[in-house]
Amino acid sequence: MYDYVQISTINDFIFCQRSLYFHSIYYTFVDKQYKAKPQVAGTIAHEATDTGRYSSQKKFLQAMEVFSHAYGVIGKIDVYDKETKVLTERKRKINRVYDGYRFQLYAQKLALEEMGFPVEKMFLHSLSDNKKYEIHFHGPDLYAFEKTIEKIRAFNVAKSSPKQNIQKCRNCIYRELCRREQ
Ligand code: SF4
Repeated sequence: MYDYVQISTINDFIFCQRSLYFHSIYYTFVDKQYKAKPQVAGTIAHEATDTGRYSSQKKFLQAMEVFSHAYGVIGKIDVYDKETKVLTERKRKINRVYDGYRFQLYAQKLALEEMGFPVEKMFLHSLSDNKKYEIHFHGPDLYAFEKTIEKIRAFNVAKSSPKQNIQKCRNCIYRELCRREQ
């Protein structure tokens, strides 16, 4: 039996392993207490789906809890269209399709399919410029995804010393907290 990995931590972990530590510690805090401004805006962008305002049409599953026993992940999807079988994850602004974004969608897709909802297409939707990026999923992607989940599960902050990357740290939502720990 293993601990389920929160889908929302995957992007943090790929960005910087150390950020997983802060995500875990502050997971129960009210977001606005520790998130920097761009991330608060991103959270607000999600509120339409979290509160079910995306659409009242029954064909959409919105902000639904999903989990995969096979891959040991749990979390929420953003929007899934039952008719077209399209899964969409909306973000406030996407400047670049990071691996963390893709892996979050993989986790959602695998969990949805285990629950009986096939996913034929996946998109990242950048709300501020209304751009959509199709995300593909092939065999090597599954292997890389599984390896990442294994690493997250095995992560121990006391035994790891992630390399510091000043540019990443400047853009990190946990930078204020992390600075106090360094
Ligand atoms: S501030 Fe830097 S080292 Fe600390 S969690 Fe963020 S990216 Fe990682």
